Amino acid sequence: MLNIVLFGPPGAGKGTQSERLIKKYNLLHLSTGDLLRAEIAAGTQLGLDAKKYMDAGNLVPDEVVIGMIENKIKSNPHVNGIIFDGFPRTVPQATSLDHMCHDNNISINALISLKVDVLELTKRIVERGKTSGRTDDQDPKLVSERVAEYNNKTAPVADYYAKRGKAHYVDGMNPIDIVFEDICNVIDTL
Ligand code: AMP
Repeated sequence: MLNIVLFGPPGAGKGTQSERLIKKYNLLHLSTGDLLRAEIAAGTQLGLDAKKYMDAGNLVPDEVVIGMIENKIKSNPHVNGIIFDGFPRTVPQATSLDHMCHDNNISINALISLKVDVLELTKRIVERGKTSGRTDDQDPKLVSERVAEYNNKTAPVADYYAKRGKAHYVDGMNPIDIVFEDICNVIDTL
């Protein structure tokens, strides 16, 4: 199995690149952001609880997203591999993912981190907000809160994988096609 953590700040291009990667390598796309938005749309209790955090630009509690990911891994045992998009976002999520992988006899092959500077991120998110309908993309204060959450809680996740020799870095400032090529080059050497 090919299991990749696609990593980077909000607006780095994880969703766009995931869409291409799942087609090329025939993988399952697991985006915790998408799963949470689906819960909100379905009006579930989990969705209602998560919405409060998402509307404030904060991370949803670890146990909520860990439970969702665990269900998805268990219910998809026969896939070629998984692209984790937006998960893990904290070090406790990363350690839980390791335990889940161990329990399900799989492993994470690599974390691929998309590097994009803050000004470009803000520009991209505001642009996406014009069409995404996502309220958290439309308010500049929420965008900076999300970037702050990334810097404080999520950035250390890359070090967690670097210590295990699994972190790879791609310049996310490049055009979409070049970023895709660079990611594929990393995957093809794994
Ligand atoms: P995203 O679509 O990845 O930008 O996620 C949108 C929002 O969902 C984030 O700002 C968080 O509030 C929440 N979220 C998504 N994934 C996670 C995660 N792994 N841990 C905590 N909160 C998350």
